[in-house]
Amino acid sequence: MPDIVVVGSGPNGLVAACVLARAGLEVVVVEAKPHPGGAARTTEKTLPGFLHDVGAGFFPFGTLSPAFKDLDLPGAGLELLWAPIDSAHPARDGSCGVIGRDVDRCAEMLGKDGKAFTDWARWWAEVEPSLLPALLATPPAVREMAKVSPLVLAKFARLAAMSCRGLAEHFFETDAARRIIPALALHTDVAPSDPLGSPIGFMLAATSTTGGFSVPRGGAGSITRALLARLAELGGRIEYGARVRKIRMDGTRAVGVETVRGPIDAKVAVVADTAAPTLYLELLPSRVVPGQVLEKMRTFKRGFGTFKMDWALDAPVPWTSESCREAGVVHTGEDIDDLDRFAKEIHDGKMPTDPYLVIGQQSLVDSSRAPKGKHTLWAYSRVPSELDGKAWTAEAKATYAARIEKRIEELAPGFGETILERDASSPQDLFAMNENLLGGDLGGGTAQITNQVILRPMFPYYRYRTPINGLYLGSSYAHPGAGVHGMCGYNAANAVLEDAR
Ligand SMILES: Cc1cc2nc3c(=O)[nH]c(=O)nc-3n(C[C@H](O)[C@H](O)[C@H](O)COP(=O)(O)OP(=O)(O)OC[C@H]3O[C@@H](n4cnc5c(N)ncnc54)[C@H](O)[C@@H]3O)c2cc1C
Repeated sequence: MPDIVVVGSGPNGLVAACVLARAGLEVVVVEAKPHPGGAARTTEKTLPGFLHDVGAGFFPFGTLSPAFKDLDLPGAGLELLWAPIDSAHPARDGSCGVIGRDVDRCAEMLGKDGKAFTDWARWWAEVEPSLLPALLATPPAVREMAKVSPLVLAKFARLAAMSCRGLAEHFFETDAARRIIPALALHTDVAPSDPLGSPIGFMLAATSTTGGFSVPRGGAGSITRALLARLAELGGRIEYGARVRKIRMDGTRAVGVETVRGPIDAKVAVVADTAAPTLYLELLPSRVVPGQVLEKMRTFKRGFGTFKMDWALDAPVPWTSESCREAGVVHTGEDIDDLDRFAKEIHDGKMPTDPYLVIGQQSLVDSSRAPKGKHTLWAYSRVPSELDGKAWTAEAKATYAARIEKRIEELAPGFGETILERDASSPQDLFAMNENLLGGDLGGGTAQITNQVILRPMFPYYRYRTPINGLYLGSSYAHPGAGVHGMCGYNAANAVLEDAR
C-alpha cells in the first residue's frame, strides 16, 4: 500500500509527488487522462510536426519558482529559451509598449516612460530575492516575511492596494506603457479598474523583467517530462486513465481513493491536484464536509471562461510593429478603457466584440515547434463561460475565432494568408480536456482579492489542509494560485511532511 496518493498530474500534483517521494514516502499519482501534465502539455493539434501547448505557453516562474529550483528541472532535462522582448503591447495607432528582461532596450523603446520603467525594474530586481519567496510560501509566511525589509513591504503594500489602472497611471505617462500592466492582469479576470486588482498585473510585469516569459524547448510538455523524470528517479509512479470518483474515508479520515479502475489506499495522506469545488462537492461524501465549506463551494466564484486558439503558419506573423516580431508574447488592447470595455462585456455575459488577446510566438525562439521555415501561433482570450446560459455552439466558436483572426490581421496585415491550419477550443472544450478548468476558467477560481492568500480557496482552510484529516489540497485552487510554478503542490507536500512528523 502506498503512503501517498496524489490525485492529478498537473505541475502542482507532480511537484507534490516529487517532494513526498524525496522524503522517502511511497507515492502513486493517479491521473484521469491517458497522459500527464494537466494544462502543461504539448500536442500536434493542427498538422503533423507542429507542436502546440494545449494550456500554458510561457513561464515567468520557469527559473524563479522555489519549487522548480529545489527540484533542479534543468538537471532533469528542461531547457528554457527567451525571445529578445518578453512582451509587446501593440495598438492600431502603431504604438507599442514593451517589457522584458532586457531592461535597457525596453526602456529605450518606451521613450518618455523609459526612466520610470528602469527605476521600477531595478527596484524589483533588488527586492525580488527576498520578496518573491515570501509571496509564494505558505501564508502567512512569517519566517520568509521577516527577511523582507519593512520599507519594501510597505512600498509593496501601497502598490498592491491600487487598481491596475491606478498603478499604470502612477508609473507611466504614455498609453503604450500604461496598457502593459492592465493587459497582463487580464490573463485572469481582473479588469483595469477593479479595486485592489494590481497585484496580479504587478507580479506578471515584475517577473517579466527577471524570470522573463520563458519558453521551454519542445513545449510546455518539457516541464512535465522533467518533473516525471524526477519522480521516476525518486521511485514514484503514475497511473493513467484512473479518474478518482471518491475519496475513501474511515470515519473522519481520508484513507485512499476510489478510481474508475478500483480502490487505492494511502497510509499517510491524499493530496488533491483537483478543483476545490469538485473535491468538496463531488469527491467527498457531504456528511464529512462542514456546512460552511459546502456553502462556500456551491457559490465559489470562478474566473472568466477561456477561448484558446492554435495555428500552424507558413511564415511568422507579419506584424506591422517591429517590436512584435521579436516578442515571445504579444497582447492586444488599445488602451486601459478598451481593456475595461472588454472585461465589462464578459461580466455582461456577451461575446466580446473586439477580443483582448494573449498571443504566444513560441516557434520564434524554439525551432523544434514547427517544420523548417514554418511557425506555430498560440493565443487565448477571456470570454463568458456560457452564452445566454448555454454552452458555446460550433457557430459561436466560429464567430469568435473569426473575430480573433480579424484582430490579429489589423495589427499584422497578411496574417490570414500565412494560416495553414487552425484549432479553436471553447470553455467547454477546455473543461473536457482538463476537469480542473471549471467553465473554462484557467485560474483555479477568480483572481480577485476575495480569493487570494488566506481566502484561497476559503478561510480558514488556506494552508493546504482541508477539514478532513489526511486530505490536502495542492492545486492552483490554493495559494499562490494559477501559473506553472508548482508552489501549491510544493507547499501542500510540505504540510503533509510537517503533519507526519
Ligand atoms: C489555456 C491556458 C493557458 C495558460 N497559460 C499559462 C501560461 O502561459 N503560463 C502559466 O504559467 N500558466 C498558464 N496557465 C495556467 C496553468 O496552466 C495552470 O495554473 C496550472 O497548470 C495549474 O496546475 P495544476 O497542477 O494545479 O492543475 P492542472 O494543470 O489543471 O492539472 C490538473 C490535473 O489533474 C487531473 N485531475 C483532475 N481531477 C482528477 C480526478 N478526479 N482524478 C484524477 N485526475 C484528476 C486533470 O486531468 C489534470 O491532469 C494556462 C492555463 C490554460 C488552460
